Amino acid sequence: MHTADVVIVGGGIVGSSIAYHLVAAGRTNVLVIERETAQGKGSTGKSMGGVRAQFSTPVNIQMSLYSIPFYASFEERLGYPCDYRPQGYLFCATNDKHMAYLRANYEKQLAMGLKNVRLVAGDEIRGMFPLLRGDDIVGGSFCSTDGFVDPNSAMVGFMTWAVDHGATLWKNATVTAITLRAGSFEVATTRDMVSTPAVVNCAGPWAAEVAALAGIELPVEPLRRMLVPTEPFDQFPHTAPMIIDMSNGFHFRPESRGFLFAWNDPQETPGYKTDFDPAFTEKILTRAADRVPVFENVAVNPKRAWAGLYEMTPDHHPILGESPEVPGFFFANGFSGHGVMHAPATGKILSDLILTGKTDLIDADLLNFARFAEARMIHETAML
Ligand SMILES: Cc1cc2nc3c(=O)[nH]c(=O)nc-3n(C[C@H](O)[C@H](O)[C@H](O)COP(=O)(O)OP(=O)(O)OC[C@H]3O[C@@H](n4cnc5c(N)ncnc54)[C@H](O)[C@@H]3O)c2cc1C
Repeated sequence: MHTADVVIVGGGIVGSSIAYHLVAAGRTNVLVIERETAQGKGSTGKSMGGVRAQFSTPVNIQMSLYSIPFYASFEERLGYPCDYRPQGYLFCATNDKHMAYLRANYEKQLAMGLKNVRLVAGDEIRGMFPLLRGDDIVGGSFCSTDGFVDPNSAMVGFMTWAVDHGATLWKNATVTAITLRAGSFEVATTRDMVSTPAVVNCAGPWAAEVAALAGIELPVEPLRRMLVPTEPFDQFPHTAPMIIDMSNGFHFRPESRGFLFAWNDPQETPGYKTDFDPAFTEKILTRAADRVPVFENVAVNPKRAWAGLYEMTPDHHPILGESPEVPGFFFANGFSGHGVMHAPATGKILSDLILTGKTDLIDADLLNFARFAEARMIHETAML
């Protein structure tokens, strides 16, 4: 029987960040258990890598206000790169309702202390990106410290630092049972049994299955998202931010020598579907060429497109903190599309809650599991 102070189930970016933050806070006997032979085979390796503070709820803004400066100083802190590129996020509104919504979010973001966000007029957007079809753009909002990271590098950086400073990572080990015995857990894995007082569920889209091992029904559902990378393309600037067409949700960003196209199909239904649907290529290319006419000339190789899983909760906010039913069992789940950008804050919050029972980073009650039973859900509408 192996023993650990904390067992983290899942070695994606969230499990890795929690391991880093626990070790950095002095708790080194941390064991991360990952069922795959390599890290990053879950959602983290499928992510678009977007990081932004332009949210509509204060708690999401707060999580970004910790996470983005963290990514900006990642290499200094950890000695590994995360490839943070502060190219910004530009939301483009095509009607007054969307503009009013961006203005209301902007006020909240300023009130929370975000510095680099500003509203932009339609003419300014047309001037910045003459190749965008701008006839219907009434304005937008832009934050220059939003941008992109390389999720895989960040995940590996967190984990390597944690392991170099005392944590242990088991790969190729699946957690198969979690039993509470006399105040501590017995975690059965395909490698060895582990005894621990604290288990953290970091199983991404499989979080409900891991929670069920501890007898908990967790409202986290997998939802397929597909991304289409283009072949090298230089007719649109590679210094561009993430550009979001609010008329239909199409968004894109520069990636390598081409671009990465994203659009969340409203017809998608929950489930463990990770196959790429070839019909999606046509749907997304239509939207791409509608907003950026030169994208009519872009080439895509459908074999390079991919699908991954968002981990959705009923209110599109994560579930963080200790289970009210099973003390010692912690959740870091349900990021609803924001798990990469919020991984640094999640690591800090979970480390604080595990080690001290409280955190200053957010009002932890807002994101706890009890909110569903107590009808305290919070809705984030700035979803991508
Ligand atoms: C197409 C797409 C685009 C996205 N774009 C963005 C974006 O731009 N910005 C952003 O912030 N987020 C984005 N996301 C969301 C983001 O990728 C996720 O929220 C984040 O990666 C979740 O990290 P995680 O560590 O919780 O989960 P994962 O990376 O899925 O890791 C969970 C790990 O748990 C392991 N596991 C599961 N069950 C067990 C078990 N029983 N025993 C042992 N191990 C187990 C899995 O093998 C896996 O490695 C995107 C997601 C997708 C699919």
